[in-house]
Amino acid sequence: MIGCANPGAQYEALREEIDAAVIAVMRGHRYILGPEVEKFEEEFAAYIGCVHGIGVANGTDAIGLALRGLGIGPGDEVITVSHTAVATIAAIESVGAVPVLVDVDPAFYTLDPALLESAMSQRTKAVIAVHLYGQPADLDSIGRFCRKHDLALIEDVAQAHGARWQGRRLGSIGRVACFSCYPTKNLGAIGDGGIVTTSDSELARRIRMLREYGWEQRYISTLAGQNSRLDEMQAAILRVKLRHLDDANGRRRHLAARYREQLDGILDIQLPKIRPGSEHVYHLFVIRTQQREALMTHLKARDIQAAIHYPMPVHRQPAYAGRIRCSAMPVTEALTETVLSLPMYPELSDTDQSTVIAAIREFTG
Ligand SMILES: *Cc1c(COP(=O)(O)O)cnc(C)c1O
Repeated sequence: MIGCANPGAQYEALREEIDAAVIAVMRGHRYILGPEVEKFEEEFAAYIGCVHGIGVANGTDAIGLALRGLGIGPGDEVITVSHTAVATIAAIESVGAVPVLVDVDPAFYTLDPALLESAMSQRTKAVIAVHLYGQPADLDSIGRFCRKHDLALIEDVAQAHGARWQGRRLGSIGRVACFSCYPTKNLGAIGDGGIVTTSDSELARRIRMLREYGWEQRYISTLAGQNSRLDEMQAAILRVKLRHLDDANGRRRHLAARYREQLDGILDIQLPKIRPGSEHVYHLFVIRTQQREALMTHLKARDIQAAIHYPMPVHRQPAYAGRIRCSAMPVTEALTETVLSLPMYPELSDTDQSTVIAAIREFTG
């Protein structure tokens, strides 16, 4: 079977390094928020180009903690997209704030800045720019809007570790940025994990406290916090994988270039576009086709797994439908019907990818 993602293959490729790192943690007798977490925070922040990194339990918590750190809570509104992982919206509601959702642009599938003005109210406090599928949202326009209206720009970088925008790494541009290290992400743990980056020292200090009961010193809560700690085992694994992240992303780009070359010009297959001035890291390679169900069935019969990100926009999901404020969503709705994610992970061999490409070409004739 050729999967859409394959985190197990990455473990096998880095097995010796990962095994050694895990054993060292077990023999070091430090389990949570110890030296491995501290080193991971430093190394990741330096990689992104930020002053601070704060390791947390997962990507959803990273967003929630960023919001709480900024003092955003009940009654406040946060603008983002419906075409994202539900986690983005769940995180906003987790702090009691109100998500306001807008449509994406038809070329790059990220937040359409033209819709920000009408989504804004007196209560708007922040915009979450989701760097979907591995490429930057329109940070120029979104950033300008946020500066003009004094709103916090929060980057959701859960799908774009290592991607660049105008030469700078994503996660170093907004006031604060949130990463998931879920196993299938470009930088994935062997379990749950996440990290927040910022260059705002006071904000970093608050988030650091909030992730562990609001402690400034042990057993004394200065803020009303929560438990969202990162453990030593995951941090040690993430440090190993961080050393290989650029290579892994390079491999993703190589595979993307091959998909582009060999699927170019096929009727009814629309290839992903790259935003000018940015570098895509292909968390997912997402095509669009009107014959999605038939193509998926065809691939499945050949043991090839393709997936849909996402089959139902957040504003239509049962938990949210009818109660979420949102703009009209023509682009989001159209994407829901047509997007298809092809197999994409660094360990996918050229040979296996050629099998995928041949199967698609066979289908389209
Ligand atoms: C994965 C993801 C998250 C949430 O991360 P978890 O670690 O699963 O909590 C948030 N936003 C986006 C865009 C994601 O893809």
